[in-house]
Amino acid sequence: MRSPDQRREELKAVFQQAQGCTRCPQLAATRASVVFGAGNADADLMLVGEAPGANEDRLGLPFVGQAGKLLDRLLGEVGLARADVFIANTIKCRPPGNRDPHPVEIDNCQDYLLRQVELIEPRVVCTLGNFATKLLRGDPTGIMRLHGRPEVRTIGPRAVRMYPIFHPAAALYTPRMLETLREDFARLPGLLALDPPPQPGGDDAAPAVPEPAVADAAPTAEPAEIEPEVAREQLGLF
Ligand code: URA
Repeated sequence: MRSPDQRREELKAVFQQAQGCTRCPQLAATRASVVFGAGNADADLMLVGEAPGANEDRLGLPFVGQAGKLLDRLLGEVGLARADVFIANTIKCRPPGNRDPHPVEIDNCQDYLLRQVELIEPRVVCTLGNFATKLLRGDPTGIMRLHGRPEVRTIGPRAVRMYPIFHPAAALYTPRMLETLREDFARLPGLLALDPPPQPGGDDAAPAVPEPAVADAAPTAEPAEIEPEVAREQLGLF
């Protein structure tokens, strides 16, 4: 068992590693920043989007454009603020032209996300849209079928309540989807109030839950020099 301080220090080390990552040569060559994630490193709720867009790439922070404003509003409606949650993405670098992430990029980047879940220890992981949902469930079932249905899943070494919902960008221009997203958001406080799921191998271990098909290896990129100001803002940790 790690103490909160140990988890925070390890998360900072993963952050530093991600800053120098060159596993995806095209993304490393075109990005302005590695958008690691931001928020409370002890959050009970972690939200996982798709990939940084142009605004996120420029500022080094997740969900700072229109979709982010909607996300803030929906969080506020259920009594949560950004400072209460940790927001990350499936991949940490912007795909040029906002294209979809390539499977190899998702594969290259997944260790960072797994380490974030391991070190933040959220009770609930809310996947926003198809990319995060498919990766963390290890299954191609799409968000249309899964949204609004919580399930206990194991992500790396952690059991969490996974809660797939629509991506806020999908709801920006579709009022019906926004209504559904709002209904799904309304279940979050109840989910957060539940006891945390039993951890694999713990005294309170439950029968095995399906493992997503994701690797457990630690990130291997070299730590990079980064501006302390960027680090402080990205993680709220330093
Ligand atoms: N969409 C995402 O999935 N992530 C962001 O950070 C911004 C928009």
